Amino acid sequence: MSAPTPARSVAVPAISPRLLRVALLAVGLLLMLAYLVAFDQGAVSQSGMYLHELMHDGRHLLGVPCH
Ligand SMILES: [Zn+2]
Repeated sequence: MSAPTPARSVAVPAISPRLLRVALLAVGLLLMLAYLVAFDQGAVSQSGMYLHELMHDGRHLLGVPCH
């Protein structure tokens, strides 16, 4: 008579690779949007002050130092 063998556990990822890619892409896009709204002064966007002026009210609403 032998002892019962323990059930083998299979590692199941807590998050699927596809969901991880989508989540990382969403976080990246949101960080880029936050940068463009809050900090871009035309250096990255190459838009001069157009993007700054477009996001100007949003900056003040969020309390980001502006001028
Ligand atoms: Zn301002």
